[in-house]
Amino acid sequence: MTRKMHAAVVVAFGKPLEFREYDVPTPGPGQILVKTEACGVCHTDLHAANGDWPVKPNPPFTPGHEGIGLVAAIGAGVRTVKEGDRVGVPWLYSACGHCEYCLQAWETVCAKAEFGGYTKNGGFADYIIADPDYVAHIPKGLGAKEAAPLICAGITTYKGIKQTEARAGEWIVISGAGGLGHLGIQYAKAMGLRVCAVDIDDGKLAHATKLGADMVVNAKNGDPIEAVKKGTDGGAHGVLITAPSLGAFKQGVGMTRKRGTCVLVGLPPGDFPLPLFDVVANCITVRGSFVGNREDMAEALSFAAQGKVKADIELQPLSAINEVFQRLAHGDVPSRVVLDFSGAAPVGSKR
Ligand code: NAD
Ligand code: ZN
Ligand code: ZN
Repeated sequence: MTRKMHAAVVVAFGKPLEFREYDVPTPGPGQILVKTEACGVCHTDLHAANGDWPVKPNPPFTPGHEGIGLVAAIGAGVRTVKEGDRVGVPWLYSACGHCEYCLQAWETVCAKAEFGGYTKNGGFADYIIADPDYVAHIPKGLGAKEAAPLICAGITTYKGIKQTEARAGEWIVISGAGGLGHLGIQYAKAMGLRVCAVDIDDGKLAHATKLGADMVVNAKNGDPIEAVKKGTDGGAHGVLITAPSLGAFKQGVGMTRKRGTCVLVGLPPGDFPLPLFDVVANCITVRGSFVGNREDMAEALSFAAQGKVKADIELQPLSAINEVFQRLAHGDVPSRVVLDFSGAAPVGSKR
């Protein structure tokens, strides 16, 4: 009998995900089959399901790029992983490995890159087909549920902080203290930075303080640029904008110290006006950053394996995905929801 699996599927942009049953796929040459244990829900999954970005996925597709699981089967020629290994299937699903960007470890911008849960089916499913050359290797001692947010929210903020070039002892602003930001605060502290967390939700900011933020600013109260400049004596050396809101971007540039770097990682649809005179006259760098390469992944996971960074997770079943999306859209998820597949329903049942 063919084995069956469940998946939550985007059938049309802006519509609730549908629960579908498929045959469990067989990995082809060079592929592996991963049995999902847990998958984080990133705000990017919401952008994907809404078709928010200029480059769109093709429905029907299964979102999810924080899927962690055990290798259940390997295709012909696979040597880098073996059955039973715990791996993560990230946003950077695969790349060509040969272009100028891949050769420089910038495979994230490879023209042939595929994206998990976007151009390839992702982790909102009992099983995932993956490319063994690009999976995350989960260190021993790190459970699937706690590892899930690290393979997107973790790597993205860790790499983004490095891209600000802020050094130990200097100030960094983490704008947006949600799924990405709550990890960004912890990475920044572990890297010796002084952290100012900015959000529009007092609950998120209270949590940011618990996670070690030295200063918090609610962008809804007064002028957040003034507040940051005052608290950091002239602006932050690095600013990392994770907020999925355009308003946060212009503010983030304004919070950047002279000669500092403002790194953009949040991806709300649209554009924002750059105050040209301020950027030029203050010699500010504005830089985009997109997840991270495979070495960044290993480093980001290592912080967690050493106990220096820990994802705050709320577990939910796959069947709750549409409610989780609603909450995420309204800023009602405290940190990260992780879909828990350990209590998977028997094949053929409705979830
Ligand atoms: P999230 O919903 O978990 O968190 C967003 C946080 O931003 C919330 O705490 C919210 O209160 C806060 N926020 C909203 N408006 C704000 C404002 N004006 N100022 C300050 N804070 C504000 O989302 P997430 O999963 O952390 O993802 C955030 C964004 O990052 C999304 O747009 C996502 O697509 C993007 N993203 C980018 C990359 C990348 O590689 N560049 C990777 C992952 C996610
Ligand atoms: Zn993500
Ligand atoms: Zn390439």
